[in-house]
Amino acid sequence: MTGTTDIPTIGHWIDGAVRASESGRTAPVYNPATGAQQAQVALADQAEIDEAIASAQRGYEEWSRYSIAKRQSILFSFRELLNARKGELAEIITREHGKVLSDAMGEIARGQEVVELATGFAHLTKGAFNENASTGIDVYSLKQPLGVVGVISPFNFPAMVPMWFFPVAIAAGNSVVLKPSEKDPSAALWMAELWKEAGLPDGVFTVLQGDKLAVDGLLTDPVVQSISFVGSTPIAKYIYETASQHGKRVQALGGAKNHMLVLPDADLDIVADQAINAGYGAAGERCMAISVVLAVEPIADELIEKISQRIGELRIGDGASHPEPQMGPLITAEHRAKVSGYVDIAEADGAKIVVDGRDFTAPGCEDGFFFGPTLIDDVPTSSRAYTEEIFGPVLEVVRVKSYDEGVELINSGQFGNGTAIFTNDGGAARRFQNEIQVGMIGINVPIPVPVAYHSFGGWKQSLFGDSKAYGVQGFEFFTREKAVTSRWLDPATHGGINLGFPQND
Ligand code: NAD
Repeated sequence: MTGTTDIPTIGHWIDGAVRASESGRTAPVYNPATGAQQAQVALADQAEIDEAIASAQRGYEEWSRYSIAKRQSILFSFRELLNARKGELAEIITREHGKVLSDAMGEIARGQEVVELATGFAHLTKGAFNENASTGIDVYSLKQPLGVVGVISPFNFPAMVPMWFFPVAIAAGNSVVLKPSEKDPSAALWMAELWKEAGLPDGVFTVLQGDKLAVDGLLTDPVVQSISFVGSTPIAKYIYETASQHGKRVQALGGAKNHMLVLPDADLDIVADQAINAGYGAAGERCMAISVVLAVEPIADELIEKISQRIGELRIGDGASHPEPQMGPLITAEHRAKVSGYVDIAEADGAKIVVDGRDFTAPGCEDGFFFGPTLIDDVPTSSRAYTEEIFGPVLEVVRVKSYDEGVELINSGQFGNGTAIFTNDGGAARRFQNEIQVGMIGINVPIPVPVAYHSFGGWKQSLFGDSKAYGVQGFEFFTREKAVTSRWLDPATHGGINLGFPQND
């Protein structure tokens, strides 16, 4: 950090060092629990964007020549350092994002899983070989890195979402320019320093702080070969379209509205616990949060009663305080106003507000961006409060008559990120996994984020592009294949002059 005023300025990471910005453009960074501005983040100008990309290109040229063994040892060092020092990173996340410390540790653990997957990259980037495809001719394929790749991440997982991409991209031989969210930019810098300590050559991991200008720079610069984006659906669509028009490979993960379908045979105490965990954890600022409970009658009244009771017992406060609360604040005052507005819309559209978090204040944190856990019953499915993503601690209950009505509702939504079914009926669960138009399914699991060796991504408006994040698909995304047809000249098999199209014999 640098800064001439009382407020420090968070800069970029270029060429293996912090780079103070000279753009003169900044955005405020708050502590959401106190509501106080604690820093400002640089917003790159065109000269800084160009500098970052040029440095990444130099980094790529060096890194792509490193042997597998050398790359592997640096990845292992990064993993060891991260594991040993993740507490520091969690504190940074809590201070800028607001989620409670144990939840910040949870997001790091899920990111670390991808680092661990990436240490095995030699197996996942292997090519294939066929001997004697035609007489005396061998054919083989190589998987090579793309070059400089861009990663653009959202505020809600400042460590995990970048780690969905950069360990795989770097392991495969690429260099990465990460554009973090301007709302919580420090986690990216901390990870950059860790890479340096792990021995990564300068320029292979770059952090470019900024806003739309930095994003557009990555989307349009011909040096940047691919874009991995995570954020809201309108921006994901824009990213997909713009980067594609500029000839790049794109994976753009968007927003969500995840439903939990509860069949009458489910254990309602377990369901109530899980609805609370998945609805209010991280104050609902998770793309895999549950935001709608579809209760197959006659269970809705009993389930609402159980969820309401549990809401009354939740501890909410500054995520860095002791003893640790269970839920922290929202990211900004603007976002809190947006969440509140959706509760107003639901009410105006005839829904019943069972627990109202609109006027909530956390004792001792009166200026923080807190919003109380909110439970809404009978939300009309025509209401914008139902059809749009709220991204806050708001659980909406919709009462349905049957499993089929529930499935139809889920499948008619614009998003297809995650969903869950709660039941003891294996046949119903099996039908659900087959019939539902959603990318990630939980069977009695409310937040079904796939482990690192599967891949993460939704369907419909939750993912633009052909490739999910991490897992085998991640390695496919960050490599391109080259096929080699080879013959070592041997007079015995040399066919002489033949102007025909090559055929195999
Ligand atoms: P966002 O779309 O506002 O911002 C994401 C990134 O895009 C940030 O780096 C931001 O600086 C940049 N950006 C914002 N506006 C831009 C513009 N007009 N042009 C170019 N770039 C722009 O998202 P957010 O508020 O940071 O994150 C929350 C959203 O992310 C939610 O919709 C959530 O569902 C989604 N999300 C999705 C997943 C997933 O895996 N599908 C995971 C996490 C978050």
